[in-house]
Amino acid sequence: MFEVVNPATEEVIETVELAGVAETDAAVARAKAAFETWRAVAPADRARLLRAFAAAVDADREQLAQLEVANAGHTIGNARWEAGNARDVIEYYAAAPERLFGRQIPVAGGIDLTFQEPLGVVGIIVPWNFPLPIAAWGLAPALAAGNTVVLKPAEWTPLTALRLAELARQAGLPEGVLQVLPGRGPVVGRRLVEHPDVRKVVFTGSTRVGKEIAAGCAAQVKPVTLELGGKSANIVFADADLAKAAATAPYAVFDNAGQDCCARSRILVQRSVYEEFMALLEPAVLGVKVGDPREESTEMGPLISAAHHARVASFLDGVSVRLQGSVPGGKGYWFPPTLLAPVDPASRVVTEEVFGPVVAVLPFEDEADALRIANATEYGLSGSIWTRDVGRALRVARGVEAGNLSVNSHSSVRYTTPFGGFKQSGLGRELGPDALQAFTETKNVFIATEE
Ligand code: NAD
Repeated sequence: MFEVVNPATEEVIETVELAGVAETDAAVARAKAAFETWRAVAPADRARLLRAFAAAVDADREQLAQLEVANAGHTIGNARWEAGNARDVIEYYAAAPERLFGRQIPVAGGIDLTFQEPLGVVGIIVPWNFPLPIAAWGLAPALAAGNTVVLKPAEWTPLTALRLAELARQAGLPEGVLQVLPGRGPVVGRRLVEHPDVRKVVFTGSTRVGKEIAAGCAAQVKPVTLELGGKSANIVFADADLAKAAATAPYAVFDNAGQDCCARSRILVQRSVYEEFMALLEPAVLGVKVGDPREESTEMGPLISAAHHARVASFLDGVSVRLQGSVPGGKGYWFPPTLLAPVDPASRVVTEEVFGPVVAVLPFEDEADALRIANATEYGLSGSIWTRDVGRALRVARGVEAGNLSVNSHSSVRYTTPFGGFKQSGLGRELGPDALQAFTETKNVFIATEE
């Protein structure tokens, strides 16, 4: 049994039964049996069922959002966006079963055809920071391509994933097609990786665990998608709209209390405008509204747990803090928005993923210097570039070793475009048209036509 805690109140809101290895094996067996029927469902019918699933999520958006506020401490505004994103992703991939085209390739002596075949049972392992969207990013393309899914939510945040599975059943998805199995990572997660009937693993989480997952999958040459950590740079050039860059920078790192793999946790500022930028940034950091996540006006909620709070706090040991915002008193795992400048570029807080509301500001001299600092990390997930020079924007966007860059904005995620990391931020891409490739194998069939 696992006690699910509201991180804003520290109250137990539900007790969830954790599965073990035997339950995992039973779920995989059900998913394997369901695969035979699900893959044979006519494309238009599979599409219709997924549209019904999206409609069920749409109708349940407010309840899903409230559940996420209570379980993960997400602000209600964010949680509503996340529930809408889950609906959008399922709806987007509902179009896929009828568009999963193969090719006809010119060859001598016959006809050559390719088919995009589903893989079988897909195991999806989800982290606690965005439980709902990340579950949907994996399960929607997997199901659309004809696979069945066993999904393991993070221990701390199982509630919205469990609700998604209920909604899928209500919408008419056959039994065994989508199962959600709360459990411990080293038990249920590991079993999904090791089970020979799980033919693909999608893992989102820390780089440390991601490496273990990759090694486990390698033992069976099992395809794996990895979405891992980040330490992204927000690069502000002297010619940028400094007021806008400074006003938005706090939200690019403090959103979801910094528990965001795309958090722009290093702000790189051209030295010639450093003081001017800091004068604009400081009030913007202090202006972030931290408080009760149920309030519409709240911009930042608590951290997920006491253990995570202690981990985030440990990054500030021996580090001098420039300023911190305020947090509510009383219960809850609150951590104030924290600004570090000046800061030693070699310190742990600058080189490692904090996964909390802590941002380091570093000066740079010129374009080459900015790229050198931005790329001086093992991660490569996202980043932002602020400049009015379109040539520089493109040069720097091409130069940053990361999968998702935005110019004069901080957006990383659109369900219609590919998302994923360079270097130790991951392997493979989710979302957009590319994701279906990750849930199918290409089969080539040659048919002789000569007598
Ligand atoms: P985590 O690695 O601790 O756990 C992620 C999931 O893996 C959980 O469900 C956990 O139970 C499971 N797990 C743990 N050990 C396992 C094992 N040995 N075998 C199989 N499964 C195991 O990560 P977390 O703390 O839940 O999430 C935070 C991390 O996720 C951060 O590093 C963040 O950057 C990353 N993240 C990345 C993306 C992305 O898209 N790149 C998105 C969100 C979060």
